[in-house]
Amino acid sequence: MTSPQVSVVIPVYNEEQSLPLLFARLYPALDKLERSYEVIFVNDGSKDRSVALLREQFARRPEVTRVILFNGNFGQHMAIMAGFEHCRGSRIVTLDADLQNPPEEIGNLLAQMDLGHDYVGSIRMLRQDTAFRRLASRAMNWIRERITKIRMADQGCMLRAYDRLIVDAIKSSHEINTFIPALAYTYASNPTEIPVAHEERAAGESKYSMYSLIRLNFDLITGFSIVPLQVFSLLGMFIAITSVVVYIGVIIERWILAASLMDGLTALWDRDILQFFLTGLVLFGLGLLGEYVGRIYQQARSRPRFLIQAVLEKDNDECEVQSAK
Ligand code: UDP
Ligand code: MG
Repeated sequence: MTSPQVSVVIPVYNEEQSLPLLFARLYPALDKLERSYEVIFVNDGSKDRSVALLREQFARRPEVTRVILFNGNFGQHMAIMAGFEHCRGSRIVTLDADLQNPPEEIGNLLAQMDLGHDYVGSIRMLRQDTAFRRLASRAMNWIRERITKIRMADQGCMLRAYDRLIVDAIKSSHEINTFIPALAYTYASNPTEIPVAHEERAAGESKYSMYSLIRLNFDLITGFSIVPLQVFSLLGMFIAITSVVVYIGVIIERWILAASLMDGLTALWDRDILQFFLTGLVLFGLGLLGEYVGRIYQQARSRPRFLIQAVLEKDNDECEVQSAK
């Protein structure tokens, strides 16, 4: 297989209902582009019929289809990472399997790359998600904009195109807990964003629970900013200095005006509430420290980030077991 112009990487986790619809729209959209392409599906440990459907699709279009089968569920970003490690195209597009990102937009992303951009992000117009998800995304975008150097309007949309140089840099980063669009941005020299359509999930439900969404956002923040840690050192310093100043003030008051005024001073705050507040602050600070230390621990162990059971591709009909670092 010679290097195609475009590789499309799609993570798949329990998408048996969406896959037939995806195949029906993706391949005609790509054929229409008149650019050589390959589609790499990465099955992230699906427990439904996704693998059988991917095998069928591979048999139907073996010259442009490759399928990576994970041994278990390693998460969307690791699935994309495995796709990056196996793709051969000079431009790489990522896409969700549930058709929330219309495959017909791929041509528009590539047109931006033709203009010289090495990273093309996307902004979802009329985002079709729950109000809660939209609100949470807006809050995370706001925080990320302020505490990292990453500038993008809509960090959550996976419909993106990357130049091979960027994908190679991502591969050599060997990150375990990462957020690929943000990591890619740090390597881009001429990034841009375009508005894209957004659709409701074609079928099935979101594969992200509230818990995994929170984890993912911690990956985004801790992976690209140490401001949360620095805020705590500043806050700690502020509280320490303030308490010393107040304490000195109390002593002076006591010394000059006797105990009655000091009573008034201490009544300024309810001690219990202050105690709760400070304990909460300390616990949150500790937890935050744990978020970073946990990631250092995982990185230091440098275990394989995912385990591939088999790769289906034209030159390699054999199943192979391999792990990727
Ligand atoms: N996905 C995955 N592994 C996971 C969770 C999700 O490969 O552990 C895939 C999923 O099949 C889909 C994409 O990642 O192709 C985005 O997931 P989803 O649509 O559920 O996320 P949402 O749109 O709700 O953010
Ligand atoms: Mg989705």
